[in-house]
Amino acid sequence: MSAAKYIFVTGGVTSSLGKGIISASLGMLLQARGFKVTIQKFDPYINIDPGTLNPYEHGECYVTNDGAETDLDLGHYERFLNVSTSQANNITTGRIYNNVITKERQGEYLGKTVQVIPHITDEIKRNIYLLGESGEYDFIITEIGGSVGDIESLPFIEAVRQVKWDLGANNALVIHLTLIPYLKAAKELKTKPTQHSVKELLSYGVQPDILVCRTEMPLPQDIRKKLALFCNVHLNSVIEAIDADTIYDVPILMRKERLDERVLSKLKLQSKSEPDLEHWKDFLGKLKNPIEEVTIGLVGKYVTLPDAYKSIVEAFVHAGARNDCRVNLKWISSEEINNETVSTIFKGLDGILVAPGFGERGMEGKIEAIRYIRENKIPFFGICLGMQCAVIEFARHVVGLADASSTELNPKTKHPVIDLMEAQKKITAKGGTMRLGAYACKLKKSSKAAQAYGEGSIHERHRHRYEFNNAYLERIEEAGLKAVGINPDSNLVEVVELKDHPWFIGVQYHPELRSTVMNPHPLFVGFVEASVKYKKSLTV
Ligand code: GLN
Repeated sequence: MSAAKYIFVTGGVTSSLGKGIISASLGMLLQARGFKVTIQKFDPYINIDPGTLNPYEHGECYVTNDGAETDLDLGHYERFLNVSTSQANNITTGRIYNNVITKERQGEYLGKTVQVIPHITDEIKRNIYLLGESGEYDFIITEIGGSVGDIESLPFIEAVRQVKWDLGANNALVIHLTLIPYLKAAKELKTKPTQHSVKELLSYGVQPDILVCRTEMPLPQDIRKKLALFCNVHLNSVIEAIDADTIYDVPILMRKERLDERVLSKLKLQSKSEPDLEHWKDFLGKLKNPIEEVTIGLVGKYVTLPDAYKSIVEAFVHAGARNDCRVNLKWISSEEINNETVSTIFKGLDGILVAPGFGERGMEGKIEAIRYIRENKIPFFGICLGMQCAVIEFARHVVGLADASSTELNPKTKHPVIDLMEAQKKITAKGGTMRLGAYACKLKKSSKAAQAYGEGSIHERHRHRYEFNNAYLERIEEAGLKAVGINPDSNLVEVVELKDHPWFIGVQYHPELRSTVMNPHPLFVGFVEASVKYKKSLTV
């Protein structure tokens, strides 16, 4: 195919309808037909990226291989498509304005008044076309964050209008995702909010080509007809998106509704083949028919908002299915854990993951949790801050450095076993300044980590400022906590493992970011397997 086709996904009526999942599902279906697909998201807020946002604001910050701090929807794109994204896949209003203002200062618009139209919209379009120009993709799916009608998303909608006009109906289309509420009292599905939302889109000059309708109830034919009539779409372009048991059902549901076929026919494309969904269906079969069951504790700070740990939760779904095992997650606030509460809180858990995080709040609880886990030989997985806490705990209680700490927790500690990285010491700005993105790591052959990966040379993604302080390496290793993964260029410790423990692994990087349906992350797979074994060992 010569030029890429562009698909835009807008949202109406309310937020949180799942534009990311619909985009990822459509992308996956097109990919399953042999097309090359990428998905990009535009976020209408003014931050340059979500890296400086509290997870309570916007959920997890997803990090790409090239070190971009991005929206969590990019995680869905990677999990569904099994291909990497990059900075080009997530653009905010802040980044667009920043680019335009930088160009203005450089004199690129000399003599001109710089305006939303055409300068901001041109910069948005440049970022839309950028992915297509690489020649790598047949389809660029662009998700527009927010809902139609929000002041903030207006320039993006205007750019969509222009792209449709520039490229013509055979090369660009708009899918509008809306909600069809069910009124219990009237026992009726209501189309009016969707009609209004489409009218709003029309008022900006954009006619949606396909309507995807979120609904609790199946959409009867008369409702579909009404929507088609009032919203000027073909009847077969009214697609039902009924609530699903799991997000991983959505591609199958979209296939049943023929969303992929509608897209191809509107863009005048012949499919290379019927979609090959065998692997996906195998995964769903395993996910829905588990043989084993384990309960894993997730010790973190943002436990009231599971979106803050989105990729970890999904990595457990992938790893559970691979092990034919249902993984129940029990969310535990690290602030509730202390010497007295820990044994009660951890009762009945088959494995415990200590989550990433920032700041000293809740850190002592994580350290206490790890003491209990280590002493009771419960399978343990520590990620980023979780790994750092494991090092602190071990230094304090096994090496005998009672005051050991991280300088993030206690800047005055006599024994900074976790310390700010050298490169971080001069940095004061907060945005995009951590150690970010994929770095190489060499694993010791004999380690459990190397066994799980099945190889000794790995690349994993990072997002941190502090690190294992190599001044303590010898003492810590001698006492039994081994550094089994090292960055070959900087010598930073990336993986630690405890000797004489069934499964105790801490990683400085974020393995959860690389787990996909097709490639569950080996450490999550290994951890679930160890938890199943641990559970069985208690019952025999
Ligand atoms: N706060 C720690 C650091 O900056 C850990 C970061 C994390 O868990 N992502 O190093």
